[in-house]
Amino acid sequence: MQYIGCHLTISKGFHAMGNQALEVGGTTAQFFTRNPRGGKAKDLDPEDIAAFQALRAAHHFGPFIAHAPYTINPCAAKPETLEFARMTMEDDLRRLEIVGGCLYNFHPGSHVGQGIEAGIEKIAETLNNILKPEQNTIVLLETMAGKGSEVGGRFEELREILDRVVLREKMGVCLDTCHVSDGGYDIAGDLDGVLTEFDKVIGLDRLRALHLNDSMNPVGAHKDRHQKLGQGYLGLDCFRNIVRHPALKDLPKVLETPNELPGYTEEIRILREMAGE
Ligand code: FE
Ligand code: FE
Ligand code: ZN
Repeated sequence: MQYIGCHLTISKGFHAMGNQALEVGGTTAQFFTRNPRGGKAKDLDPEDIAAFQALRAAHHFGPFIAHAPYTINPCAAKPETLEFARMTMEDDLRRLEIVGGCLYNFHPGSHVGQGIEAGIEKIAETLNNILKPEQNTIVLLETMAGKGSEVGGRFEELREILDRVVLREKMGVCLDTCHVSDGGYDIAGDLDGVLTEFDKVIGLDRLRALHLNDSMNPVGAHKDRHQKLGQGYLGLDCFRNIVRHPALKDLPKVLETPNELPGYTEEIRILREMAGE
């Protein structure tokens, strides 16, 4: 079984989130590490963590994906904003070492007028400030739609960040299908071409997870509006190609489509059916 799941919440704890993943037919899930607005994270409850770890040991789960709040900006111009992002990410990583078995995904940020090069430098500096040689959690740069001054809309930008990170073995990339299409990569029309380009620029060995989202907008739109699978410009064939692709079959795949739990359950079922499970 492939590691397929959807975005869920840890507001009722990790164990409840794990059970919810099972209910929707998931073998992984994604959750925000804290309120997406970036407030203080709830204290970890050792009993909840133990129950979550027991649940994982009893079921066929892949790595879970912890998503950083999308409001932090790891390449902010203002020192206080940059420091807030650094502190938030450092605290998230400290907590994830306790939870175990998670990948940590974040948005590289927006350079807001500083220029792409300055943005890339700052993101790498933020990472160099928080990564530790002893950590087990792999940190993922998410491919972005290239909306506004977002960094990470081009594979080259992610490559440049990775090149500047000292503990590069702690780093990977999460490919968001809506974002790469919006970024100008025709993943619906030419999946192999996009993966070849990814391999050439970043290296396919860096690809550690996927976000499966259809897009409300055509390729190159730079909008970042997710759509339900098959109801946007990517279409179901795109996702069939992804779940059937040999280079992608072992990677965790998480839905971030505009759905409630029944919608997610149905999309996970469809993905498994298309994967031939
Ligand atoms: Fe994201
Ligand atoms: Fe995403
Ligand atoms: Zn998005």
